[in-house]
Amino acid sequence: MSSFEDFLHTQLRQITEAGLLRKPAMIGPAQGTIVESGGKTLHNFSSNDYLGLANHPAVCQAAREAISEGGAGSGASRLICGTLPAHLRLEADLAGFKRCEAALSFSSGYAAALGVIPALAGKGDVIILDKLCHACLVDGAHLSGATLRVFPHNDMKALESRLAWAHKTCPQGKVLILAESVYSMDGDLAHLSEIVDLKERYGAWLLLDEAHGVGVLGEGGRGLADACGVVHRIEVQMGTLGKALGSSGAYVCGAASLREFLVNRARSFVFSTAPPPSASAAASAAVGLLSNSETCSGLIPPLHKNVDRLCTNLGLPLSPSPIVPIILGPEDLAMQASARLRDQGFLVPAIRFPTVARGQARLRVTLSSAHSEAAIDELAGAIQRAISEGSC
Ligand SMILES: *Cc1c(COP(=O)(O)O)cnc(C)c1O
Repeated sequence: MSSFEDFLHTQLRQITEAGLLRKPAMIGPAQGTIVESGGKTLHNFSSNDYLGLANHPAVCQAAREAISEGGAGSGASRLICGTLPAHLRLEADLAGFKRCEAALSFSSGYAAALGVIPALAGKGDVIILDKLCHACLVDGAHLSGATLRVFPHNDMKALESRLAWAHKTCPQGKVLILAESVYSMDGDLAHLSEIVDLKERYGAWLLLDEAHGVGVLGEGGRGLADACGVVHRIEVQMGTLGKALGSSGAYVCGAASLREFLVNRARSFVFSTAPPPSASAAASAAVGLLSNSETCSGLIPPLHKNVDRLCTNLGLPLSPSPIVPIILGPEDLAMQASARLRDQGFLVPAIRFPTVARGQARLRVTLSSAHSEAAIDELAGAIQRAISEGSC
């Protein structure tokens, strides 16, 4: 026992000495543009609830009704006795919304990636991924046992050279590219049309993670694949239900045969309790709001207007997504700026290693359609003060 405790204490000391110890702060309510944390009322610029749907009356009502009808849990894995009407309804709604043949839901984006990637590729295959891919894509790729090749972020020449290498080295193997529509710590977009052209030229497959694209980009928030008109040229799309859709969980969509294959082969689907029906029903309600052009026009255009307003106030180039990084470099500068913003009443997280590379620490502002223009203007002033104090 004591060697176990020694181990833990030594590890924690090393993390602390590196200035990287994290302690999640309690916050309430979970979402909303105004939250309470550490005895302070703060404007929340840290949530991925981009459209304010986590608190939308129709979304909350759908979750309550699902609990009244079917209870809080889901009983078992979908393959045992856990497939509930709410799951099938959500999957039909998502498939229609995403203009795909079929969708399959998972309990989280992390679980989806860990299930899907090893189902599609393994030993003897090659996975090629963008350097800035989310940890769950990286972990799924490692778990698969395939040979991994990373290309510098959005560098299409480097992607092509990896594809040529894979084609030459593993002519029998499958080649799977992993990319995101919106990169989660930088807020920029994949060069999707070029990626799709390249993967077709080399006979590779593409898994596109739309975690931060769904609900945000494309017509009615259908995502970047839809915006670029390449939905039917992408083998696998995934996205999360816990960001713009305001609920929890994830989906994978594509061909009906992809869905059936994953039901049988994605281990995080087969061996994990199904998502609670309340989460699925809430996500269905969110998809319903986006599918209706009237409700959708009150959600997505105001979001992009808010993003433009903050970027203009700060003199930054306009961001295509609700993620606005303000890169400060050293970890301690970002931590201090975040603390100063908190003192001024704004919750804006500092993002540092290992979430981003060392020396690339940043403030990461995320915007919502629910933020007021006044709060955005105040935030811009507070950011400018917090940064100028740090530099003298
Ligand atoms: C958040 C995120 C995930 C993980 O989704 P969860 O549902 O939170 O597990 C996957 N991919 C990307 C790009 C993400 O930003």
